[in-house]
Amino acid sequence: MKALYKAAAGAGLELTDRPEPTPGPGEVKIRVHTTGICGTDLHILQWDAWAARNLSAPLIPGHEFYGEVVEVGAAVTTVAVGDRVSGEGHIVCGLCRNCRAGRRHLCIQTSSVGVQRDGAFAEFVVMPESNVWVHRACRRKGVPLAAGAGAAGAGAGPEPYQVSPELGAVFDPLGNAVHTALAFPLVSEDVLITGAGPIGLMAAAVARHAGARHIVITDVSAPRLKLAESMGVDLAVNVATERLRDVQVRLGMREGFDVGLEMSGHPSALPEMIDNMNHGGRIALLGLPHGDIGVDFGRVVTHMLTLQGIYGRQMFETWYAMSALLESDREAHRRIESVITDVIPAREWSRGFEAAASASGGKVVLDWRDL
Ligand SMILES: [Zn+2]
Ligand SMILES: [Zn+2]
Repeated sequence: MKALYKAAAGAGLELTDRPEPTPGPGEVKIRVHTTGICGTDLHILQWDAWAARNLSAPLIPGHEFYGEVVEVGAAVTTVAVGDRVSGEGHIVCGLCRNCRAGRRHLCIQTSSVGVQRDGAFAEFVVMPESNVWVHRACRRKGVPLAAGAGAAGAGAGPEPYQVSPELGAVFDPLGNAVHTALAFPLVSEDVLITGAGPIGLMAAAVARHAGARHIVITDVSAPRLKLAESMGVDLAVNVATERLRDVQVRLGMREGFDVGLEMSGHPSALPEMIDNMNHGGRIALLGLPHGDIGVDFGRVVTHMLTLQGIYGRQMFETWYAMSALLESDREAHRRIESVITDVIPAREWSRGFEAAASASGGKVVLDWRDL
């Protein structure tokens, strides 16, 4: 099969021929149709300090994907050949204290698809049945996915709900957005999102869906702030030129934001967020900082702020929430799908990585169907 491959430690990737993976008894083999390019993949390409510490080379990277099941192991019972699926890239041990308590996103021995084991930048990927997420439309056995809408249209009833291959490719980062946005109740709250990258943008659409009052999103990239305006935010603020204090005045806010979602990892984002929170405000942190961040912990203490780190997705409550949200709210579905700004053939993968690294657009998806 064709795969994007890192043969050894060091920078670079090559599109080359690799042996097709074989599923074990409890595993599923998937023909990959589409993959998302993540910040993690850019680190892997460049081979920075993070990649050198965390990566097991040789490796096929890629952890955000959508595809069709082509083979299942003998012990697999809930996934069938022909199902259209995405997958949870965190493979957990099932035996540590958190796993046994059902808190699998807190597993202390998580192994990541496309980081510690071969991933989805390939024609085929294999993963455990328990990590496969079957998209709802595919459970309609006997109804071909592509023909489904047309066939139903001939009679009565609404068009069957479908997740497109492009949207299916970004379920992993959408899960990060949903996990972060739903960390605290949002109904009627004033919400500040720092960072309008793909996950921050999707989080804005989720916050609107979840009933927030004011939603303010910040960035320094004009194209990303432009994208943010179509997510249903009240204000998309360029923090290179405007302070959040002034933004509060513009919105008629007097006491500060109730909920903060830090999606950038930028060293100035969290301190300015903390300066603009109401007393008792709650902050969910997804953006990974590169180094130390100067936080006024006196303010955290006296204002009784809550800081909550977020990693990955809850298995599988976040996946249920994502699917239900997309199916029940067409506007949120449209907004979230519009975060995908580039769909590029996989053989032009390097152009895709450049687009993802430019930080000027939304999400970049590689198409593996026609190699
Ligand atoms: Zn990712
Ligand atoms: Zn575990």
